Amino acid sequence: MRRGSKSTCLRAAFLFLSACVGETLAADPTLHEKLELLARAYPEMIAEVGKDKLTLRDGGAALPIDDGRRKSHAEKLASGDIEDSLSQIYPLGACARPPAADFDPGRIRSEALMKRLYGGSAASIRRDLVSVDWFGERLKVTRRHGVAKALQAVEGELAARPKLKRYLVPSSGTFNWRNIAGTRTLSVHSFGAAIDLNTGFADYWRWSGGGKSGAAAYRNRYPLDIVEIFEKHGFIWGGRWYHFDTMHFEYRPELISIAKQASASACR
Ligand SMILES: [Zn+2]
Repeated sequence: MRRGSKSTCLRAAFLFLSACVGETLAADPTLHEKLELLARAYPEMIAEVGKDKLTLRDGGAALPIDDGRRKSHAEKLASGDIEDSLSQIYPLGACARPPAADFDPGRIRSEALMKRLYGGSAASIRRDLVSVDWFGERLKVTRRHGVAKALQAVEGELAARPKLKRYLVPSSGTFNWRNIAGTRTLSVHSFGAAIDLNTGFADYWRWSGGGKSGAAAYRNRYPLDIVEIFEKHGFIWGGRWYHFDTMHFEYRPELISIAKQASASACR
């Protein structure tokens, strides 16, 4: 009896330790690992990850990774550098729950990097726009970095699930050179790399009582199968954010790769 309890106890301790070690190994890739995954997500533009700069293939100046400033969450949203943009790990999967305060994985972006990836003006973005068939609508998105192909693949998979169509059409928009509401920061719609679904099911933190503090009541009305299909093709979902925007998806394959490396799941 006593021997039995001892071995049960040892076994429990072993399992606890293995779980801890497993967590440590899976969680939080280093900044350098994240940057390597970023470079792999945009091989036609990012040539090399240096110690403190990214070398790009457009012939322009190398981009600093970290501006060295200590920033609040609001400051990171307003003027994120590359390091800030990778600081929160996006969780994957067909689950949703109210996000923790200021957990906005992917909502922090480096506008300098986005402009180098996709173009720095509405005119330059327009040159790369192509049409994607979205259930009979023709949506304009950028062809750069595989965005148009990825969105077409999403549509192909969603089309096999006719019950989902009412949530998807009409799309509330793709390319639109504009700032995010209430900010001076360009929306990813400006780069032709985002899509909004049928606004009839949308919930948005600003509409749900969120003021400057961002304390809004979380709600999502889109089936999570849709989220899982978008994530499979490199898009992140705005429904994972504290400052939630549930109809919004944007192409951020680096964050999907980092999530996989970190085994970051929304279902835990
Ligand atoms: Zn949007």
